[in-house]
Amino acid sequence: MKHFAYVIVGAGFAGAATAYHLARQGAGDILVLEQESIPGFHASGRNAAMLRQCVAEPDLTKLALDGAAFIRNLPDDWPEPVPFKNNGSLLLGQGAGWDKLKADGALGRSVGIPGIAEWTPEQAARHVPLLKEAQFDGALWCDSDGVVDIHALLSGYLKFAASRGAQIRYNAALRGVRVRSNADIELDTAEGAVSCKVLVNASGAWANGVATLAGARLLPMRACRRHLFVSPPMKWVDASWPFVWDVSHDIYFRPEGEGLLLCACDQAELPAGDPPVDESIKEMLADKIQRFMPGLSEVSISRGWAGLRTLTPDGRFIIGWDGKVDNFFWVAGLGGHGMTTSAAVGELAVKLLLGGPESQSAPFAPARFN
Ligand SMILES: Cc1cc2nc3c(=O)[nH]c(=O)nc-3n(C[C@H](O)[C@H](O)[C@H](O)COP(=O)(O)OP(=O)(O)OC[C@H]3O[C@@H](n4cnc5c(N)ncnc54)[C@H](O)[C@@H]3O)c2cc1C
Repeated sequence: MKHFAYVIVGAGFAGAATAYHLARQGAGDILVLEQESIPGFHASGRNAAMLRQCVAEPDLTKLALDGAAFIRNLPDDWPEPVPFKNNGSLLLGQGAGWDKLKADGALGRSVGIPGIAEWTPEQAARHVPLLKEAQFDGALWCDSDGVVDIHALLSGYLKFAASRGAQIRYNAALRGVRVRSNADIELDTAEGAVSCKVLVNASGAWANGVATLAGARLLPMRACRRHLFVSPPMKWVDASWPFVWDVSHDIYFRPEGEGLLLCACDQAELPAGDPPVDESIKEMLADKIQRFMPGLSEVSISRGWAGLRTLTPDGRFIIGWDGKVDNFFWVAGLGGHGMTTSAAVGELAVKLLLGGPESQSAPFAPARFN
């Protein structure tokens, strides 16, 4: 049976970025197991690709800042270009929502996010004219945000890891885990049996399922579906617009090709899997457009898809040792920020992995749910 220092379950952003940083550290033999035939088949390949740094949670803000800086300045030995449209972002808020955004902006400035400014509705509408009739009291502008080629980013992490000797196996679902008394872990996979010293659970919406296989703790995570829709090309769309997110009314849009990508920020809890598209969410989107963003009322939808965001009760990720099963490590619960933060998540995970179990005090530790 082939033995690895680290087996990582999942080739989404959590697993790929962890493999990248482990490989960069020369941390030993690495195997990435992915149940699908391609990387990023689930959340990591279905997200809105928006690099957003201003969020409400201080620890997440720091990860977003570091993750964004990585994407904007990829290392010299990064294997392939990652196109980044640095169009900025406009977060719109009304009433308490605008007060909260101003606080998020102050937090962002305090940790060093470049290019944050408070804009009036008139300033925002000069930049994106369809906002003239939208309902908001102010906008937080962040000019270092933008839109990332998510497939190139994910593939870059994996290609780099592979170039340093990591093995990445597709159609290789983890099916069984036996923790041996000598602290080695034996794994049954769809591609045969392997063993490892450390098992990294980066399986996204399946994370509690993988924990169950290993006899690890079950953590409070909810997999919630979110739909994205794309319009046909429209002459009036300006490809240089930022992404615009109305946080008071939960609706966002951004240029996508010659049309727009739109989201009504729906959130229905579902079991782990390939979530079906619920056609009624188009009506939810149309209703929000009519009420809060009438400048979009002419938009039609040409296609849509859905993905699962894995959310924790406190909104913070889960990165750290299990505490119940030795050598079982979590990189999960990345919610709606897993692409932006991926490089920083992988880096933190590897710092904790190489630092050993004593690093439990980190703000993302599974132990906070004890
Ligand atoms: C609609 C939507 C929009 C989003 N927009 C943004 C955005 O604009 N910006 C941003 O930063 N983030 C965004 N996100 C969030 C981001 O996509 C996620 O946080 C991130 O992709 C999570 O990565 P992950 O690796 O944890 O999960 P996943 O990408 O789901 O990867 C987990 C992998 O584990 C594999 N797996 C599971 N079980 C097993 C097993 N037993 N054996 C082998 N493999 C297994 C799965 O097949 C899967 O490929 C969005 C998410 C959604 C759904």
